Amino acid sequence: MATSVAPLALIRVLSPIDGSIVGEVPDEGPAGVDAAFDRARAAAPGWASLPVSERSEALKKWRDAILDDPGVIATLVRESGKPRHEAEGVELLYFCEVVRFCCSSAKRALRREVRRPFLMQTKRTLLVKKPLGVVGVIGPWNFPILNNAADAVAPLVAGNAVILKPSEVTPLTSVRLAELWKAAGNPPGVFQVVTGRGEAGARVTELSDGVIFTGSVATGRRVASRCGERLIPCVTELGGKSPFVVLSGADLDRAARAAAWSSFFHSGQACIRTERIIVEEPIADEFERRFVDRVKALRQARASAGLESEHDLGSVTFPRQIEIVASQLQDAIKKGAKLVSGGKAREDLGKSFFEPTVVLGATSGMELTREETFGPLVGVMRVRSEEEALAAANDTHLGLNATVFGPTDKAKRFAERLQTGNAIVNDVLVNYLVVEAPLGGVKASGVGVRHGVEGIRQWTRTESLTVPFAPLAPIGNLIARHLSFPYDMKVLGLIRRATRVLYGRGLKRKLGPLPG
Ligand code: NDP
Repeated sequence: MATSVAPLALIRVLSPIDGSIVGEVPDEGPAGVDAAFDRARAAAPGWASLPVSERSEALKKWRDAILDDPGVIATLVRESGKPRHEAEGVELLYFCEVVRFCCSSAKRALRREVRRPFLMQTKRTLLVKKPLGVVGVIGPWNFPILNNAADAVAPLVAGNAVILKPSEVTPLTSVRLAELWKAAGNPPGVFQVVTGRGEAGARVTELSDGVIFTGSVATGRRVASRCGERLIPCVTELGGKSPFVVLSGADLDRAARAAAWSSFFHSGQACIRTERIIVEEPIADEFERRFVDRVKALRQARASAGLESEHDLGSVTFPRQIEIVASQLQDAIKKGAKLVSGGKAREDLGKSFFEPTVVLGATSGMELTREETFGPLVGVMRVRSEEEALAAANDTHLGLNATVFGPTDKAKRFAERLQTGNAIVNDVLVNYLVVEAPLGGVKASGVGVRHGVEGIRQWTRTESLTVPFAPLAPIGNLIARHLSFPYDMKVLGLIRRATRVLYGRGLKRKLGPLPG
């Protein structure tokens, strides 16, 4: 009798631009994750055994296939609602830069090191970096390339297979990228995408040998706890409440332009975006005037994948963000903030559109100052001094990114006193594109980093392999004979003397008698 397999339920992906169906993906659930891990485990040893140069070639072929594919950007725009400028000019650009960096740095990051010991002079220790096996990437909905497939590049170049679980809200770009991995002729099973909901993500944490998670603090804690129980490495990049500090002496025009971009980039749905603006009182009037003028000039429209549509903001990707924005706005106004720009849903454009919104007179007790907004709303807070600015900037449970505008040396000194994983002086956001430097959060913004050689090495474990140092091998053999059983008090006497010569004040320090 033939057995029938029940078809998988489908997840329908609706465009936030107009509510149309962009596509459907199977809800593969935990069983789909199990099957993907079986394929990955079979493929991983072959991939790990390739020289770094061949793995790099495969990644470059994948990048080229993505750059040549007309569908990737169209899908990304339609499922996320972000302007094409951000889809192509930020996400795709970033992906290419990560591939370039990882391919050109992997050899250095992964090369064997030799350590020459001080005490064990007769030995040399080789540090051999081995891939973990299969790494799980659990991605958020806001950056379908940047915090999803791009996070697979470092583990892949380090010799791991990768399973990516994108958010159910924006999975289609990732699915296309997995197809392009195959179309580029790269080995099957090495990079796979599994579509599903939270249970699929949870299953990834059960089976992976290492995890990188980007998303909310609450889910990040669950993922990290499980990885802790399983004793596997876990990198988490969670929320941000990034301050944008304007100190006296800052170039106010540049600061205002940067504040507008970093507050409303991708309609505010970015973990490193500006979440709070803190400005010194003497320059506040002028800064606020310029900033609000810039925000009022932003062009909001329905995103389109064509090159003809020039605008600055699209919709939000995740409609719940509009509820958060509306609720924080109401709370701020109730507590005395002044609405000076935006403040309304743009139902004329669609259900997922909200105006870029600014309130002045933000204070520390307001929700928009304390909780992550992650949407098109920002508050400006005035402070009386640099010290007050510092206290306000650090007054948060999160610590991902920070921006300081001011005379460069003063701003740099200020930035060094911030409790943050990353900071940038007299510019915004682009520190995310400095892929040479490790980037991660402090406080509840997460643990671990992406980027830098550190971001490649963390997907390996190091075997310390100690071998005889040939020229001193006879001495090594002699020491080995006397250091082990049977113990000999004469040898202990020598060790005691040597310990004082090497670490103490030499033999001038009197040796006491052996106890007993
Ligand atoms: P989540 O943290 O819940 O989701 C992030 C990813 O984790 C998604 O792929 C999700 O899958 C997956 N996931 C959900 N539950 C589990 C689980 N138990 N184990 C493993 N993976 C799981 O974020 P939300 O999408 O719900 O957004 C909530 C808030 O998080 C936003 O309002 C925003 O404030 C913040 N956020 C921060 C981001 C950042 O860049 N730091 C990015 C996105 C959101 P699925 O979507 O299929 O449920």
